[in-house]
Amino acid sequence: MRVLLVEDDVLLGDGIHTGLRNDGYAVDWVKDGETARRALQDNEFHAVILDLGLPKLPGLTVLKEFREQGNSTPVLILTAQDGINDRIGGLDAGADDYLVKPFDLEELCARLRALIRRAHGRTDSVLQHDNLVLDPAAHTLQYNNQNVTLSRREFAVLQNLLENRGRVLSRERLEQSLYGWSDEVESNAVEVYIHHIRKKLDSKLIRTIRGVGYMIDKPQGDAE
Ligand code: CA
Repeated sequence: MRVLLVEDDVLLGDGIHTGLRNDGYAVDWVKDGETARRALQDNEFHAVILDLGLPKLPGLTVLKEFREQGNSTPVLILTAQDGINDRIGGLDAGADDYLVKPFDLEELCARLRALIRRAHGRTDSVLQHDNLVLDPAAHTLQYNNQNVTLSRREFAVLQNLLENRGRVLSRERLEQSLYGWSDEVESNAVEVYIHHIRKKLDSKLIRTIRGVGYMIDKPQGDAE
């Protein structure tokens, strides 16, 4: 899952950046409103964490423009303690949730999971598929009632495919969701992760759609 973090406070931003990466997200961190606007135009994210008090362009303007363009990616805004008007303005402009500074990193991660879950139309916090149970919060995976250990990125690839069951995800899209700008992308990384997942689970779980990408089928009888 790839997240855009927009925060000009270096200390706070650094803490969130590290925390989210440890939680398995690919994070792109920008520190002003103009760069945020460009990042949102040029990239696809699973969620956005947006501070409202930003240099160059206010967070609220970034948010309004983003929504005016019809983009529905979940946005969580960060506001100051006394910023009740900011909170109201932000929610009215299309934010999905907010946190008041200072906040707990664990809470930020939990809210982010909830936002991403809702964006995929899920009410259940775990992803279940046949005899597979993936829990994004606990970072655990069970297959045939056995715990299976996946690396951080294998886990992210599997979660992404499960969130998008019935849809083909291109290698580029999977790659984008795994790496931030500052990460070095290893060539064939996605293929290697898929290979490992297949070996650890069922080789037939993930289908290769030649020339297009990868997909996990919807469970039988699960109509769109
Ligand atoms: Ca700020």
